[in-house]
Amino acid sequence: DPRVTRIKRSIRVVPDFPKPGIMFQDITTLLLDPQAFKDTVDMFVERYKDKNISVVAGIEARGFIFGPPIALATGAKFVPLRKPKKLPGEVISEEYILEYGRDCLQMHVGAVKAGERALVVDDLIATGGTLCAAMNLLERVGAHVVECACVIELPDLKGRERLNGKPLYVLVESH
Ligand code: IMP
Repeated sequence: DPRVTRIKRSIRVVPDFPKPGIMFQDITTLLLDPQAFKDTVDMFVERYKDKNISVVAGIEARGFIFGPPIALATGAKFVPLRKPKKLPGEVISEEYILEYGRDCLQMHVGAVKAGERALVVDDLIATGGTLCAAMNLLERVGAHVVECACVIELPDLKGRERLNGKPLYVLVESH
């Protein structure tokens, strides 16, 4: 797909951010290119519009940029999966291990019902821990995770292997 070239070129790579040795994939430059931003959303919408997705779950924070336009265009609701102590209502929580320490995602109880068909959206998959926690939240309330969708995959980190066989769709790979 010729759109992928423009998307890939629009992503800035920032060396040594947030720590020495990390090549940070910065999607804010993709957002500065309206055609690349539109192509990104369009490619996801084309893939999911006929898949009966009832909920798009976006992961804080950059899943909140790509998830809502996909939800609107596919007729699904949008559910934010947030870092702890952000959501005001009753929540369920899923902890996960990071390279250094641990983190947690939370979802409002009642936002997603058993049997719903969910798409999980984030900007990037590295080790896969974040997507795994997101899928666990949805599956704990009885939803069916149809697929995870990210703009960027870092395939060298083998995050795909942590998704327990769930399909992952990405637009761009970065080595
Ligand atoms: P994982 O849990 O190791 O797969 O890390 C994925 C999470 O970390 C996602 O929520 C990403 O937004 C974030 N992340 C990790 N590396 C980068 C990066 O290079 N650019 C942007 N986000 C990143």
